[in-house]
Amino acid sequence: MRFFNCLCVGFLVWMNGTGAVFAQEMQLTEVLPNIYCMMDPTGNGANTSFIITNEGVIVIDTRGSEKEAEEVLAAIQNETDQPVVYVINTHFHKKNISGNGVFKSARTIIAQKRAQAMTILEAEREKRKVTPANLSFDKKLELKLGKYHLKLIHPGPAHTDGDLYIYIPKWRILITGGLVLNRIIPFMGDSYIEPWLHALREMENLDAEVIVPGHGVVGGKPIVTQMKHYLMELKRFVNDALEDDKNLPDTITLVKEQLKTKYSGWKHFERVEENIVRAYVEYSAKQ
Ligand SMILES: [Zn+2]
Repeated sequence: MRFFNCLCVGFLVWMNGTGAVFAQEMQLTEVLPNIYCMMDPTGNGANTSFIITNEGVIVIDTRGSEKEAEEVLAAIQNETDQPVVYVINTHFHKKNISGNGVFKSARTIIAQKRAQAMTILEAEREKRKVTPANLSFDKKLELKLGKYHLKLIHPGPAHTDGDLYIYIPKWRILITGGLVLNRIIPFMGDSYIEPWLHALREMENLDAEVIVPGHGVVGGKPIVTQMKHYLMELKRFVNDALEDDKNLPDTITLVKEQLKTKYSGWKHFERVEENIVRAYVEYSAKQ
């Protein structure tokens, strides 16, 4: 893999426990020619990608606020005069859709149809403004702009009900949205483990070399496999506890210890408890 260019744009600022202020740089990397990833190295924010073509720009995920999306727009305008033509939301989580309205030149915002519906529903429920997708699809959508040909694929319910990932065969690249995180324990409040495993196997079987995860650093195929192994082990440990008739509190204590040996170095290890609950609910229903 070649990294053509790496710039630092924008700043995230937060306070730590002692009151000191740290600035965290967002990192912009040209992963492949004209395919950029803007990454939050803390893994807290979702990655945004953009593709510059001679017919306009495609933006993939728009960050957690309009302010953050303005940073993405500035990074794009620093590279090209081409307008943003398409915006793609990989799923409905706020970290992925909240900046949609900033890309006013985009004639089309695309999402899987359940992600589109959930975006509208959640915004109504929380009484917040949103600019939802105006083009949706069910299983697959092909998008051509300039010399870039993107396949948008909904693998079924996985990280959420309405995930999509993007495959560009010519460049052997996958932009995974929330389906793959690089060494970060996922948020699984809207997830289904069994079909998520199916989705990861589907992605492993594609001819891809570069993986742009939803959170964390860009990598190769092993980060898909690593994500799959986390879910497989979560599933196995929880099913073992269910077979031993363990109750939920005992299962949480036991499985957390089992996962700690391999995954304590991953960011957001505190999410493991909620993930165990999610697996317990899903697999106890199957027994
Ligand atoms: Zn998500």
